[in-house]
Amino acid sequence: MVVVLDAISSDKRSRHPEKAHRADAPVAKKPDWIRVKAPVSKGYAETQRIVRDNGLHTVCEEAGCPNIGECWEKKHATFMIMGDTCTRACAFCNVKTGLPSALDVAEPVRVAEATAKLGLAHIVITSVDRDDLDDGGAGHFAATIRAIRARCPTTTIEVLTPDFLRKDGAVETVAAAKPDVFNHNLETVPSKYLTVRPGARYFASIRLLQRVKEIDPTMFTKSGIMVGLGEERNEVMQVMDDLRAAGVDFLTIGQYLQPTRKHHEVVRFVPPEEFKAYETIAYAKGFLMVSASPLTRSSHHAGEDFARLKAARHAAHRRG
Ligand code: SF4
Repeated sequence: MVVVLDAISSDKRSRHPEKAHRADAPVAKKPDWIRVKAPVSKGYAETQRIVRDNGLHTVCEEAGCPNIGECWEKKHATFMIMGDTCTRACAFCNVKTGLPSALDVAEPVRVAEATAKLGLAHIVITSVDRDDLDDGGAGHFAATIRAIRARCPTTTIEVLTPDFLRKDGAVETVAAAKPDVFNHNLETVPSKYLTVRPGARYFASIRLLQRVKEIDPTMFTKSGIMVGLGEERNEVMQVMDDLRAAGVDFLTIGQYLQPTRKHHEVVRFVPPEEFKAYETIAYAKGFLMVSASPLTRSSHHAGEDFARLKAARHAAHRRG
C-alpha cells in the first residue's frame, strides 16, 4: 500500500528549543504527487536492527526523510556521524539542536562495521554541524572514510559535509582521505539564507565546493537545493550557474517538506513538470548528472547515481 507519511510530529520533547516560541507556520496539504512507501518491509526492519546494534544515527530518521520506507527496504541508510545534536538551527531541518556531546572515537569503526553488514556497494556519510570543534569534525570524517576503506575496500564512499565555516584546513583534511564523492548542499538560493539557513554563508558554501575541485579535479562534487521555500525561478538558474562555475558535477533538486509547525512553511509544492524543466536546463548548463523531482534527496538512489555519474564522465571524455 502506498501512503503519505505525516512527518508533522506530536512529540513533546524539545528537539528545537530555539524554535519553541515561534508562531506556528501553516501546514499545507501534500499534493497527490507526494506519495511514499510505508516503512513496513522485512528489509526495513533488518536495516533498523543493524543501525541500532551499532549504536549509530541516520539522517533518514533524524530528518524524517519521506523515502525511508523505500531506501531501508534496500538497506540503503545514510549514517549521520558525530552525534544526533547539531550546533546550527536551520529553519528547514528536523535534526535536534543544542550542545553536542564529545566525539565518540570508536564511531568510525562501527560505521564501517554497519556498512559491511548492510552489504553496501556505495555508502553516504553525513553529519551534524559541529561548530564547537576546532576542525568542525573534519578529522572524524577522514577517520570514518579510512575505517570504511579498511573494512570494505570495494565500497565507494560519498560524504555530505557541513560547510566547515571558519574552520581553516577542514575541507583539505576530508579531501585528503579521498572520498569518491564530495557533497555539500547549498540547500536554498542566496536570498533565502538569512531566513532558511541563517548560520551559513552562500559564498562560503560555493567556495568549499570549488576548493574540493582545486585539491583534486578528479573527485566528483555534488550539491543540492530544496525548492518550495519561496525562491524565484531565476534564482535557481543563478544557483546552477554558480555551481557550474565552481566545477560541480552533480546537482540534486527536491521539494522542501515541513517537519513540524515550528519549521519554515512550504510556500509552494512545485509540480513534477517544473522539476523536469529544471533538469533539462541543468543538463544544458553542463552538469554531468542531475536529479530533480519532488522526492529527490541528496542520498536517494546515491549508489545507482554514482554508477551513472562515472559513466557520464567517461562518455564526456570520449566526446573529447
Ligand atoms: S533518501 Fe537518503 S536520507 Fe532519505 S531515507 Fe533514503 S538514504 Fe535516507
